[in-house]
Amino acid sequence: LSHLANPSRYQEMIYRRLGHSGLKVPVISLGLYRNFGESSRFDQATETILTAFDLGITHFDLANNYGEPNGSAEEFFGQVLRDNLAGYRDELLISTKSGYDMWPGPYGEWLSRKHLIASLDQSLRRLGLDYVDIYYAHRYDPKTPIEETAYALDQVVRQGKALYVGVSNFPAEAIEEIDSFFDALGTPFIGNQLNYSMFLRQPEVDVFPVLEKLIKGAVVYQPLYQGLLTEKYLNDIPSNSRMAQNVDSLSRGQLTQDRIKKVQRLSQIAKERDQTMAQLAIAWTLQQKSVASSLIGVSSKQQLIENVASIQNLTFTKDEMDQIELILSN
Ligand code: NDP
Repeated sequence: LSHLANPSRYQEMIYRRLGHSGLKVPVISLGLYRNFGESSRFDQATETILTAFDLGITHFDLANNYGEPNGSAEEFFGQVLRDNLAGYRDELLISTKSGYDMWPGPYGEWLSRKHLIASLDQSLRRLGLDYVDIYYAHRYDPKTPIEETAYALDQVVRQGKALYVGVSNFPAEAIEEIDSFFDALGTPFIGNQLNYSMFLRQPEVDVFPVLEKLIKGAVVYQPLYQGLLTEKYLNDIPSNSRMAQNVDSLSRGQLTQDRIKKVQRLSQIAKERDQTMAQLAIAWTLQQKSVASSLIGVSSKQQLIENVASIQNLTFTKDEMDQIELILSN
């Protein structure tokens, strides 16, 4: 049955523009990388998406290869759009990407024109949409000429298959290079989607300065470092956690004593701010000037509600920032 959205869904969420563009994104966006594919429980995953929408989350992030098997997250989300969110398309900002290994053979990955265009057509079919709002090149391809990628992304916009384009995981120099092509073409290029959290701060020295210079936006993913920046791993590895599931992206080796100690100390600061550790970690990523949205994943509706409540306190005193800096740099 179609969903009757919460009438006050836009009252609390905060929206920021992506760089020098007209496009506003919620400061917290929901990603469907895990927990929304074929093996996930359909009714729970649907409820999580609808709850997100009711909390003012307009932006849902996908990729061709999300879900197990590849593509199943887009299929699932397409079904939710048809069954539950029909009539709300213009309130939704849907992104997808291509570039990682998706189908066999030489055209199933990387950033050739061949891959980018074929993959977007596949994504649109799975989603059941005429266009996506943002189409991203999912990773930097050192072997394809960057102008080929730029022209292909420009073309999908001209064809009406995407409203904006972006890059993801691009190094600073490649962002500058592709931006110069987009500039010349007049392509609506919104910026970079990148990995950033209290445990992964490299972008502060390379990517963020370039985005600020170009006035492009950043959507940062994995603000919780896949769950390590919560209190869930402080005592053991809960059996229902991502780490216990032995996924490629999160190994037990990442749970070091050093990180556990840091989370214990950061949790104290969170408490003083009336926040949970997860809320502190998300709010912290939003302090960077170019960051418009923090892109989270959740395995339950409860986590979603907790994480979205981080918007209740997004301001940090200088003293708090200094204390956090001290903990992280020790
Ligand atoms: P997160 O850092 O947000 O980790 C999410 C996981 O942390 C959840 O699935 C859950 O895992 C745990 N968690 C979340 N909230 C809480 C909470 N309040 N308390 C305890 N545990 C919690 O990142 P993801 O890896 O999920 O990535 C988020 C999104 O970023 C993706 O869906 C995707 O859209 C995007 N992304 C983009 C990439 C790119 O290359 N462009 C790469 C990776 C992600 P559990 O409960 O199972 O332990």
